[in-house]
Amino acid sequence: MQKISIRQVNQDKISVGSYIVEGWVRTHRQSKNVSFIDLSDGTAVKGLQLVINPTLEGYQELAPRITTGAAIRVEGQLAASPAKGQKFEFQVTKLELVGEADAESYPLQKKGHTLEFLREILHLRPRSNTFGAVFRVRSEASMAINKFFYDRGFYYVHTPIITSSDCEGAGAMFRVTTLDLANVPKTAGKVDFSQDFFKAEASLTVSGQLEGEIFATALNKIYTFGPTFRAENSNTTRHLSEFWMIEPEMAFYNLQDNMQLAQDFIKYLIKWVLDTCQEEMQFFLEREWVAKDHVQNLEHVVNSQFTAMDYTEAIKVLEKSGKKFEFPVHWGMDLQSEHERYLTDEYVKGPMFVVNYPKDIKAFYMKVNDDGKTVRAMDTLVPRLGEIIGGSQREERHDVLLERIREMKLPEENYWWYLQLRKFGTVPHAGFGLGFERFLMYVTGMQNIRDVIPFPRYPGYSKF
Ligand code: ATP
Ligand code: MN
Repeated sequence: MQKISIRQVNQDKISVGSYIVEGWVRTHRQSKNVSFIDLSDGTAVKGLQLVINPTLEGYQELAPRITTGAAIRVEGQLAASPAKGQKFEFQVTKLELVGEADAESYPLQKKGHTLEFLREILHLRPRSNTFGAVFRVRSEASMAINKFFYDRGFYYVHTPIITSSDCEGAGAMFRVTTLDLANVPKTAGKVDFSQDFFKAEASLTVSGQLEGEIFATALNKIYTFGPTFRAENSNTTRHLSEFWMIEPEMAFYNLQDNMQLAQDFIKYLIKWVLDTCQEEMQFFLEREWVAKDHVQNLEHVVNSQFTAMDYTEAIKVLEKSGKKFEFPVHWGMDLQSEHERYLTDEYVKGPMFVVNYPKDIKAFYMKVNDDGKTVRAMDTLVPRLGEIIGGSQREERHDVLLERIREMKLPEENYWWYLQLRKFGTVPHAGFGLGFERFLMYVTGMQNIRDVIPFPRYPGYSKF
């Protein structure tokens, strides 16, 4: 007998017949003539309705232990259902209890748990409907990321998680050390890292970009997709201390090419999720925290052209908006979340790029424009979220890059290899970083970034 998944059943990929199904009980309703079990196997939002004749062999003895959360295995007939709202039911001919779930202590009884409560039980959270859906979408989107780049001839590069290069400057770093914290070796008052594991200071990476550039100037078009770490004290609904980032880097690409790729990429990922996760998207649409036009908005994004706006123009728009912002608007300031939201939610009413930022608020590696004041940066902003992508064309001119490193008083000696890339066959190149969890929030409509990663890490919290 063939084993089937409930996802296959819900997607109409299975015809009626005899099968095996394994999963966990959601509810078990008993009556005199017939019993019902709503079974979930983790593959779908909607469970499979099991129909049991109370005279089934062994059922009466097992019944009290078939409780919410218990694992069971059934054999039987998938058949057309007479009931409304479901196409199939499963008529059980054999029932096995695989693992009990004590009804008194199992925390996930039926429904109505808050997301906050579920965040305290990360070991059981994926069994809930909401998180099952979130993590299936996360898996589908991961697949789509690899497929998007694979189909376009990009190579997948694994950049290091532990780094001693300290060059990125993208944010505060977590230290990696095996020194005895109660007895740190010091020389002239300073920590002696030559006695540490790597004989040098080491940290968790904040970005794979610089290493990505090494590979782009060798393999042409590459991407990285892995965890990144930021030791910032940002206790927001949009920041994690450990998050996943996708960072493509392309040789022979300028800012325009980069924007086109970013746009194609976001649209592709959204479309993939809409196509492959229809049940999940319908489920999200029914959550009270998700806008009624959520899916429509996503479809609109897939079919729209992203607006591009110069930073200088964006500042003018903000000044003319008549809005009272917490952070006053002036040329040279970094855009805060409130400014981004006004631009994308209210002004453009759709996804957009802000490009050509003042060089003083952006990283040293971004290509300086001819005006000498701005750099070829691009941020992608989307309604209801703000920044989802940060990227740029990179500075490929050795002398300009060196000048920028000196101007920003960065430790020049650390960048010798990065500068060498500009000496040996340098080319215009560009890339960007998409925060995977930001994307997942955007597509699922989940409001807190802690609810789209299996084990969230944030200031004060790293359990499980
Ligand atoms: P923000 O201003 O929102 O903190 P950033 O400017 O620090 O972001 P970048 O350094 O450009 O972000 O990183 C690239 C992308 O990584 C961002 O566009 C965002 O999608 C994501 N990202 C950055 N920081 C975090 C974080 N702490 N948690 C989750 N995602 C993040
Ligand atoms: Mn940040």
